[in-house]
Amino acid sequence: MTKITPQPGIMDIALYVGGKSHVDGVSNVIKLSSNENPFGPSPAAQEAVRRSALDLHRYPPTDHADLRAAIAAAHGLDADRIICGVGSDEILTLLCQAYAGPGDEVIHTEHGFAIYRIGAQSVGATPIEVPERERVTDVDAILAACTDATRLVFLANPNNPTGTMIGLAEVERLAGGLPDQALLVLDGAYAEYVDGYDGGARLVEARDNVVMTRTFSKLYGLGGMRVGWGYGPQDVVDVLNRIRGPFNLSSTALAAAEAALGDTAYVERSRSENTRLRAWLAEALAEHGVPSDASCANFILARFGSQDEAEACDTYLQSQGVIVRRVTSYKLPNALRITVGDEASCRRVAHCIGQFKAGAR
Ligand SMILES: *Cc1c(COP(=O)(O)O)cnc(C)c1O
Repeated sequence: MTKITPQPGIMDIALYVGGKSHVDGVSNVIKLSSNENPFGPSPAAQEAVRRSALDLHRYPPTDHADLRAAIAAAHGLDADRIICGVGSDEILTLLCQAYAGPGDEVIHTEHGFAIYRIGAQSVGATPIEVPERERVTDVDAILAACTDATRLVFLANPNNPTGTMIGLAEVERLAGGLPDQALLVLDGAYAEYVDGYDGGARLVEARDNVVMTRTFSKLYGLGGMRVGWGYGPQDVVDVLNRIRGPFNLSSTALAAAEAALGDTAYVERSRSENTRLRAWLAEALAEHGVPSDASCANFILARFGSQDEAEACDTYLQSQGVIVRRVTSYKLPNALRITVGDEASCRRVAHCIGQFKAGAR
């Protein structure tokens, strides 16, 4: 027996499984399984990536000053309190490393993002799952689950894979009711899709126990570049910067994110097309007898009558070259998560689901 063993909790981690991107034997697939921007990367970001190739022998900056300044200007924030990470996943992981360990509890909601659990287990902390109310965050249930051991509370708002969200007054009530030693992490991966919602930025500034995370992977169309950021109390940001790798973001990633932020036409078009096509898709599916909750993000959680029906529909969609996401591991076995694609993709997935409902197998 080897005496070389990993830290406690690590072997309990269920490996993260990403959205499928191909189907054996089927060509011309459309991928609607990873909530990616259907319009491809912004041309400005592509150009920045090409330009960055000339300087690849140079180390990137360690302080991300230019990108932080650009984010601060775009969102009206204090640049000193921004930290950039390799996707927002890295910020979530750093928070676990810095604030939780064996004996500590990390709360996430029933249908919350898989990374919260993985992050907690990776540092030996105990993940605590809190029930939602009909696929919506239940603030009272979270507050009731808090103990002296609670260190972190993860909440995606809007949530993935449900697409639902709670209002800022409810988020504020949650932050105000947490025990003194607990930090609220507001995951705003889909915040930009919600008109007039700041992701919780003002709440971060008003309190000392809230951190917000954001990403360039969704609305900004840079999932492959891996850039995210956090906004928090100065002392929390200082803590995270101590454990962050000094060169965590490549010069290419920094340049791409900065350019994407500046391409406001791309961002606006992505947002408005998502709003329009999300409504169209939800209605088309409802007409085929497939309901969904009102989504605030760039995907729809389509509900079927049973797990069998959801799986059969997924199998049929794959045979037609349409890849969506099964969400059984998120305790939603009757549902399929469908990213809002471009218009042709939305029409194709709705058409296929209509055929399936009409008896095609
Ligand atoms: C996609 C997503 C993220 C973003 O992850 P990145 O590491 O920034 O690509 C974070 N949280 C949730 C809930 C997501 O769905």
